[in-house]
Amino acid sequence: MSFVKGLKCRECGTPAPLAPVAICEECFGPLEVDYDYDAIRAVLTRGEIASRPKTMWRYRELLPLENEPTVGLQTGGTPLIRADRLAKAIGVRELYLKNDAVQHPTLSFKDRVVAVALSKAREFNFEAVGCASTGNLANSVAANAAAAGFPAYILIPDNLEKSKVWGTQIYGANVIPVRGNYDDVNRLCSEIAGRHPIAFVNVNLRPFYGEGSKTFGYEIAEQLGWQAPDAVVVPMAGGSLITKIHKAFGELARLGLIEEKQTRFYGAQATGCNPIAAAVKAGTRDIRPVKPNTVAKSLAIGNPADGYFATGVITQSGGWSEDVSDPELVDAIKLLAETEGVFTETAGGTTLAVTRKLLAQGRLNPDSRIVIAITGNGLKTLEALTLTKLESIEPKLGEFERATSLRRVAAATAA
Ligand SMILES: [Zn+2]
Repeated sequence: MSFVKGLKCRECGTPAPLAPVAICEECFGPLEVDYDYDAIRAVLTRGEIASRPKTMWRYRELLPLENEPTVGLQTGGTPLIRADRLAKAIGVRELYLKNDAVQHPTLSFKDRVVAVALSKAREFNFEAVGCASTGNLANSVAANAAAAGFPAYILIPDNLEKSKVWGTQIYGANVIPVRGNYDDVNRLCSEIAGRHPIAFVNVNLRPFYGEGSKTFGYEIAEQLGWQAPDAVVVPMAGGSLITKIHKAFGELARLGLIEEKQTRFYGAQATGCNPIAAAVKAGTRDIRPVKPNTVAKSLAIGNPADGYFATGVITQSGGWSEDVSDPELVDAIKLLAETEGVFTETAGGTTLAVTRKLLAQGRLNPDSRIVIAITGNGLKTLEALTLTKLESIEPKLGEFERATSLRRVAAATAA
């Protein structure tokens, strides 16, 4: 059973039929899914949600499928970690990590959006799927398409990290590197979608796809005991995720599942690709596209599709946006690993480094309850790191003691 009324334009409100389209015919604004919230309120209670498996589908009334999901059935339910050692290191009182670096099946939050999009592709009777991607989405579409039996066409910029390319090829997808940046790739995918019956998850299925990100927000609120946090810091590429977490908290309040609360939204970018942060700092919602140049390749979208809406959420919530240099974000990857045992990719490093910067600026209240969005896994972006070169030793006790400077004790534990 579905609670979806149809699509409607986010700009002018004009309704549109439920179809694989993303753009309003009246004003060229983006379309979004329109739900019957009164009907959802009548069936969706905290108890009902708690009785269901710990996957993203426990909130299925708030997702845009007509029938039961068919793809990504195990996705969602990632940990919300109370990060006391990191909190101490950066000087805040109550800090949490929402850790989608351990998402199923491809270790990033993109598994959430792909689960919805490919389930929807099947409902629309598409026989092939695809995407334009900076890496994580490529991994997820390829893996989920393989498991669902869809051929996949994955277009990526030709400068991506090796683990993101191999982590796509391994699933047997058609991987097509494009000489250009993400914005060139995205433009090409729009053109292909107009001429070939392929469900491009973030092009013609974009209104449905984006809804999957809301489950990141629902889980945060549920894991905090049905409360929204005071502040959330979110990495921004196209700018969609931050708007969907905002939408998620708003929907839960509207349904009476959490109390209304003014959560402040903070957006994180790398200085080498900061069109949304630059707009927020300039006090405008108009995005000036940039040419990306940063190690945070998963965030390297120079012309963010949801930039206008992201700046709106950030400024209207009383939040802010900042950007950090590549060395700052790499330091933050190490800090997170060393304090919490969580290895995140460059986007996560960016988010933590921006959190520190916002604290130093006094824009983020250290006495508030803060959640940092960790959206991807560090094993995918090893190229960004330089670690100390390790020296091998001979398999001898003395060599170990020399290497570690540990001093020998009496033979108390000898076998
Ligand atoms: Zn419109």
